[in-house]
Amino acid sequence: MKKYLFYVFSLAIASCNAPAAKEGSSSQTTPSEINIQRVQWSEVDTIDVKALNADLVEGKPTMDLGVYFPSNFDPDFQKVSLEKLMISIRAAKEIYAPTGVQLNVLWIKTGEVNPRYFAIQANEVPGIPLTEYTNMYEHSRRHPAQLTDHAKEAFESIIEPKENSDRTLYIIVLQDVFYPFLTVAEERNWTMNTVRTGGLSFPTYSYVDQVPNRYRGVITITNLTRPDRLRGTIAHEIGHKVMNVSHEYKDIGPQHEVHADGGLMLYGDGEDIPSGKEGRWHLERLHLSPFLYTLQSDGTKKWNPDYQEGGHYYDPIYGEKVIHFEGVAPIDEDW
Ligand SMILES: [Zn+2]
Repeated sequence: MKKYLFYVFSLAIASCNAPAAKEGSSSQTTPSEINIQRVQWSEVDTIDVKALNADLVEGKPTMDLGVYFPSNFDPDFQKVSLEKLMISIRAAKEIYAPTGVQLNVLWIKTGEVNPRYFAIQANEVPGIPLTEYTNMYEHSRRHPAQLTDHAKEAFESIIEPKENSDRTLYIIVLQDVFYPFLTVAEERNWTMNTVRTGGLSFPTYSYVDQVPNRYRGVITITNLTRPDRLRGTIAHEIGHKVMNVSHEYKDIGPQHEVHADGGLMLYGDGEDIPSGKEGRWHLERLHLSPFLYTLQSDGTKKWNPDYQEGGHYYDPIYGEKVIHFEGVAPIDEDW
């Protein structure tokens, strides 16, 4: 059970990323970032991306995905290989097929990455714990997760500037991504834990506008070894990003760390993306995602409207497709 936390939990507590500014990549570059060396990527010539995308149908809602696989990992790092990655990407295409949304792989690239970025800490240690006065999503809106400078540096170096980069999902394979969070130790004391993630989606419900727009679609993948991880991790991480929800399913609220089968967003073997209020609007939220477009007959992409408030869980783009729920007291009421 604990092991499973690595992969989902980190995302559960954390969450996705969101939009910061609307400008292009270069305008978001700060002086300290100017000296960061960009990776020289080249496409993996053994993978036929066109064949991989043979499933695509014109006019269907589509998400674009770019993949970066460093070529110079430490020799003992075997938790993700190109082969495993491709199995997980193909599985993601299958898992999203029933939703009517398709996954367009833009490229699979490899190149030498500064080993300094092989292991990163995703966010700063949070200072303010979640208490009963707000639910997890409201709390994250007020106190979004803060990307570390080191993580920013890594993403600046790895993710290439391009058109529509703020609408593109990026899979980056790394050796380790640590996610620190607060948990109740005893009585009214919290302690910091850090979880070793197998995948992390830097979701907007958690990071809100703290991830620069140019790479707000970033997802890290660090472990695909177990069969359940292999099949589900990429689809699950994309789910955090595009449905913009934590670990929840039907009557299971996101506060619960439930290990159950059924939904794609739980810690289990489920792949269901439910709809309607009883499904916590997962399918509807997916279709409203700013990461989706439909290809027009003239070849242009018609994008969904962007977030209006940085992409927190209750962002106005979701209208009524949200669930309001109470916070949970993390400690004894009589403290
Ligand atoms: Zn997760």
